[in-house]
Amino acid sequence: MVRKKGHRKPFVRKPISPIEKLYDCPLCGQEKACLVDRDIATSDARIRCEKCDELYATKITHLCQPIDIYCQWVSTHARKPFIEPNIRPHIPVHSHSC
Ligand SMILES: [Zn+2]
Repeated sequence: MVRKKGHRKPFVRKPISPIEKLYDCPLCGQEKACLVDRDIATSDARIRCEKCDELYATKITHLCQPIDIYCQWVSTHARKPFIEPNIRPHIPVHSHSC
């Protein structure tokens, strides 16, 4: 039996990087205030902002990463201003009140 002397592999333990689940709030702009909470069993996902208390809930699959849920939330909010434009189309009013 051959014994390898002095060949001890330093056991580098890769720290289990906690998946960053805190994101910036698209509403109040607070950094790392939104916590993503996933429940694979019920396919529920929620994001809550610790600052403005905004809550976003959606259905997910097991493939959904917190970042995906967050992006979904952001895009939901980002889309709104474009759907509701401030500029009203100029509709000529037929006024016969001369
Ligand atoms: Zn917020």
